[in-house]
Amino acid sequence: MSSVPEYFGSMVFDDRVMKASLSDDVYRSLKKTIDEGAPLDRGVADAVAAAMKDWAVARGATHFTHWFQPLTGVTAEKHDSFITPSPDGRVIMEFSGKELIKGEPDASSFPSGGLRATFEARGYTAWDPTSYAFIKGKTLCIPTAFCSFGGEALDKKTPLLRSMEALNVQALRILKLFGKTDVKCVRTSVGPEQEYFLIDEKVFLERKDLIMTGRTLFGAKPPKGQEMSDHYFGVIKPRVAAYMADLNEELWKLGILAKTEHNEVAPAQHELAPIYTTTNVATDHNQLTMEIMQKVASRHGLVCLLHEKPFAGVNGSGKHNNWSMATDTGVNLLTPGETPYENAQFLLFLCAVIKAVDDYQDLLRLSVATAGNDHRLGANEAPPAVISIFLGDELTAIMDAIVNDAPYVGAEKTVMKLGANVLPNFNRDSTDRNRTSPFAFTGNKFEFRMLGSSNSIACANIMLNAAVAESLKIYADRLENATDFETALHEMIKKTFKDHRRVVFNGNGYDDAWIKEATEERGLLNLRTTPDALPALLNKKNVDLLVSLGIYSVSEIRSRYEITLDNYCKTVTIEGLTMVDMARKDILPAVESYVKDIAETAVAKNAIAPEVSGRYEKNLLAKLSRIVDEIDAATQRLDVSLVQLKTIGDVTEASVMIRDEILPRMTELRLVCDEAETLVAEKYWPFPTYEKILFSVR
Ligand code: ADP
Ligand code: MG
Repeated sequence: MSSVPEYFGSMVFDDRVMKASLSDDVYRSLKKTIDEGAPLDRGVADAVAAAMKDWAVARGATHFTHWFQPLTGVTAEKHDSFITPSPDGRVIMEFSGKELIKGEPDASSFPSGGLRATFEARGYTAWDPTSYAFIKGKTLCIPTAFCSFGGEALDKKTPLLRSMEALNVQALRILKLFGKTDVKCVRTSVGPEQEYFLIDEKVFLERKDLIMTGRTLFGAKPPKGQEMSDHYFGVIKPRVAAYMADLNEELWKLGILAKTEHNEVAPAQHELAPIYTTTNVATDHNQLTMEIMQKVASRHGLVCLLHEKPFAGVNGSGKHNNWSMATDTGVNLLTPGETPYENAQFLLFLCAVIKAVDDYQDLLRLSVATAGNDHRLGANEAPPAVISIFLGDELTAIMDAIVNDAPYVGAEKTVMKLGANVLPNFNRDSTDRNRTSPFAFTGNKFEFRMLGSSNSIACANIMLNAAVAESLKIYADRLENATDFETALHEMIKKTFKDHRRVVFNGNGYDDAWIKEATEERGLLNLRTTPDALPALLNKKNVDLLVSLGIYSVSEIRSRYEITLDNYCKTVTIEGLTMVDMARKDILPAVESYVKDIAETAVAKNAIAPEVSGRYEKNLLAKLSRIVDEIDAATQRLDVSLVQLKTIGDVTEASVMIRDEILPRMTELRLVCDEAETLVAEKYWPFPTYEKILFSVR
C-alpha cells in the first residue's frame, strides 16, 4: 500500500483531478460554478461528465449514481451503468452532461410528508458541484440535491445549502460595515465528532432487538459497566485497532479528513472525529462516514451501532457539531483576535450567535429530536434538553462589564477601558472545559453537543445557520442606517448581552438545580421529548424565520413536521412490537423452561429425601411464577396499546400517545423482564446478556 498522502482522496474527483483532466476553459467555468454558483452551460457539463467518466472507469467503476439525502435521514442511490450499445453489437462507456446535471428517480417511495401526490411520482436530483464526486465500490457517486416535480426540496441538502447562502448574504453585509470589502464569501464550517459502539457480530445476530431496532430493548445491568472509568481514552484493543486502521484507510481514500480516534466512556464505545470542513461537505462526509463505519465493521466480524442509546445504564452516543464561520480570505469570525477593532467585530458575531440560540432555542432543540435521542438528552450523560450557552469566565466577564458599563478586569487584573471604539482585548478562553453544556464556546468555535449519533448533521446546521443569519440581518439593518456606526455598534452589543444574558450558563448542566433555575427563573424552554419539541416548528415565529430567509417554504416545513413525527411513531412502534414478540416467543418460554426444571428438581428431591425442605426451589418458583404473570400482563397491556395506536391517523396525536402510554408500558415490560434475567440461569436465557455484548470484542 502506498503512503497516506499518496492515496488520500484517490477516489475523489477533486480539484487536483479536475485541473489535470479538464481544459483550462472548462476548469475555469466549473470553478466559477463551484465558488460563485454561476450556472453551468451544457458544453462545460458534457466535458466535465466525459472527464469524470474516464477517470472513474480507469479506477474500475462501471456505474454512476446520483447520491442524495432523502428525508429518511440516510443516503439513497440508484445505479446506472455507463454502457451504451455501439453499432457493432458491443458497448461503449458513456456519460453525458445531461446525466451528470439531472436525474429523474422515481420519488414515490421516499417520504414527502404530503409534498408529493402519488400520481406525481417523479422527482429530480440535481448535481451539487460544491461537493466532489467520488467512487464507492464500482460506482461513481455524484452528490445531488433531491426535489419534487413541483420544485419542493425532498432532501436535507437543499435547505442546508439555502441556509448557508442566507448566512453568507447577511455576514457579508456586516463585514462590509467593518470595511472588509475584499471578502467575497462567508462559509460555515463543521467538524462533527462521531460516537459509536462496536460489538461482535455473533452476539448481534442473536438479538432480535438489535437487529430490528438498533438498540437493546431488554437487558439487566452487568456487574461491570462504565463505573471504573477505565474505558475512556483507554488502550485500544487489537481488533478495534485493526478496524480503525481499515476504516481510516477507506475514509482517506474518499478524501475524508479522519483525524482523531479514541475509546469513549462506555465499554465498547468509541469516537471518530474528522478535521472540520465546509458544512455542506462535512454533512456529506459524515453520512459517508456512518455508512463506511458499518461496512468496514462487517468485514471484521463486528457490528457498528450508531443508535443513540443501544444499552440502558451506560452512556449513549452523540455527535458534537463543532461550528464556526469563516471568510474566503481565511478569517475565522469567531476568533477573538488581537486588535480592538477586530474584537468589536468578533463580539458582534458572538452576539449574533448568543441571540440566535436564545431566540430559536426551540428550533435548535427540535432539529435534534428523534426517538433515539430522547433517551439521551437530560439523562445525565448528555446535555439536558434545556438549551444554554457556555461562554467561559473570560467572555462572560466581558459581557457583564459591557452590560453594566463597568470596566473590564482582564486576566492580569488590568482595568481595560471600555468605550464605543475601544472594546477590550482578551485571550482565547482560558477557563476549564465544560462538558455538560449543550452549546459551548471552545476558543474559536461553538460546539453544539445535542445531536444524536445517528442524526444527519444537516438539520441542526440548517437551524443554526438560519438563526444566526437572522441575528446578523437584524444587526445589518440597524447598522447600515446608523448615523454613528460605533455608538450604534456598542449599543447593540450591549443590548444583546443584556437581553440574552439568561441563556448564558457556565455551570454544571447535569445538575437538577440548573433545570429548575433555567425553567423557573430564566424562562428557558425544556422540551424533553420529540412530541414536546416538534410542534414548535409550526410556530409563526419559526415559520416566518425559515420562509423569510428562503430556507423552507411553508409546505416544506409542514412536510418536515409530518415526516419527523411519523418517523418517531414508526420507530417506537417497531420497538414496541419487537418487545411483545421477544417477551412472548423468547423470554416467557425461557423462564417457563427454567421453572419446569426447578419444579422437577423439587419433585425429585422430595421423592428421594422427603425430609429436605425444598425451600430454595419453592421460593424461586414462587418468585418466577409471579414474574411470569407480570410479564404476561405487561406484554398484554403493551400489545393492546399498540393496537389502539394503529387506529390513530393523526401523527401529532399518535406521538403524544406514544410519549404518554406506549413508552411507559415498554419501560414497565422491560423492568419485569430484566428482573427475570437476574433470576434465571444463564444457559436458559434466550439471548446474549449485556455482559456478553459489551465485552464481546477482545
Ligand atoms: P475536542 O477536545 O472537543 O475533541 P478538538 O479540538 O479535537 O476538540 O476539535 C473537535 C472538532 O472540532 C474537530 O472535528 C475539529 O476539526 C473541529 N474544529 C476545530 N476548529 C474548528 C473550527 N474553527 N470550526 C469548526 N470546527 C472546528
Ligand atoms: Mg468535543
